[in-house]
Amino acid sequence: MSAEIMDGKAISKEIQAEIAVEVAQFTQSSGVTPCLAAVLVGDDPASEVYVRNKHRACERVGIASQMHKLPASTTEEELLELIAELNSSTDVHGILVQLPLPEGIDTLRVLDAVNPHKDVDAFHPENVGLISQGRPRFLPCTPHGVQQIIDRCGIEMTGKHAVIVGRSDIVGKPMSMLLTARNSTRGPQAANATVTICHSRTKDLAAVCRTADVIIAAIGVAEFITADMVKPGAVIIDVGINRTEKGLVGDVDFDGVSEVASHITPVPGGVGPLTVTMLMYNTLEAAKLLQS
Ligand code: NDP
Repeated sequence: MSAEIMDGKAISKEIQAEIAVEVAQFTQSSGVTPCLAAVLVGDDPASEVYVRNKHRACERVGIASQMHKLPASTTEEELLELIAELNSSTDVHGILVQLPLPEGIDTLRVLDAVNPHKDVDAFHPENVGLISQGRPRFLPCTPHGVQQIIDRCGIEMTGKHAVIVGRSDIVGKPMSMLLTARNSTRGPQAANATVTICHSRTKDLAAVCRTADVIIAAIGVAEFITADMVKPGAVIIDVGINRTEKGLVGDVDFDGVSEVASHITPVPGGVGPLTVTMLMYNTLEAAKLLQS
C-alpha cells in the first residue's frame, strides 16, 4: 500500500481563504479589524521564525498584528505588566505569548495572566475547562488543525479508535478532548472517537498503536513510529517537528509507514501550517466575542 498524502499546506490555504472572507465581512459590518498581539521574549531563532510566520498569516487574512519583542533580561513582573496592558487594550483581540519563555520566568503564571477572552492559544485553565466540558470558547490551535485535516480529507472519526502518543497540555491532552467530544467545528463526524492516550510510561506502546484506526504522534522523537507499529490501512497524523542532520522530520518514519497506512501527513507541510491558520481562526473568534 502507498498511503495518500494529506496536504496540510493546501488545506491551510483553503481555510485561510475562508477566514479572509469572514474577516472582511466582520470588519465591514462592525468597523473593527481583528488584531493579534504577539509577545516574544528573548532571541530564540526558532521562536522568531514562528512569530514571523504568524504575522504573515495575519496579513494574508486581513487581521492586524502587533509585535512586542522584549529582551531576554525581561523580568516576570515586566512581562506581566505588558500582559496587563494588552488585556485592557480595546485594539487588541488576541494575545499570543510565544513559548518557551526564558528561564527564570514562571510560564504558567504568565499564561494564567492572559485575559481568557483574548487567550487565542486556549491555554488558560478557564478555557481548558470549557473545552473539557464540551462548550469551548477557543479551540487549541494544533489539535483543531488536526481535526480540520482529518475531516477535510474525508475521514470519519465517529466510533474509530484513535491512539494519541504524547500527553502534553499543548497537543496530546487537548487532542483527546476534541476527539472524544460529541461535536466539532466540522460536525459530529469529526469527533466521537474512542481515544487512548499513550506516553513514556505506556507498556507495549507498539501493541497499543497496532490497535489504532488513527494514530496521532506528538512525541518529539524523530521517526519514532515505525511501520511495524501500524495496522494496515490506519490513518497517521504526524505532529512532531524534529531538527535532524537530514533536515526537519516528524515523529513518524514517513517512508516506512507510508507503505502500511492509508493516509499520512508529511513533515514539513502537514500539521504545522494548520496550527498558524487556526490561530487566525481564534483571533477572529476573539474579535467577535468582544463585539457581542
Ligand atoms: P512534549 O515534550 O511536551 O510532550 C511529549 C510527549 O511525548 C510526552 O507526553 C512524553 O511522555 C511523550 N513521549 C516522549 N518520549 C516518549 C517515548 N519514548 N514513548 C512514548 N511517549 C513518549 O511535546 P509537545 O506535545 O509540545 O510536542 C510534541 C512534538 O510536536 C514536538 O516535536 C513538537 O515540536 C511538535 N509540535 C508541533 C506543532 C505543530 O504545529 N506541528 C505544535 C506543537 C508541537 P511523558 O509525558 O511520559 O514524558
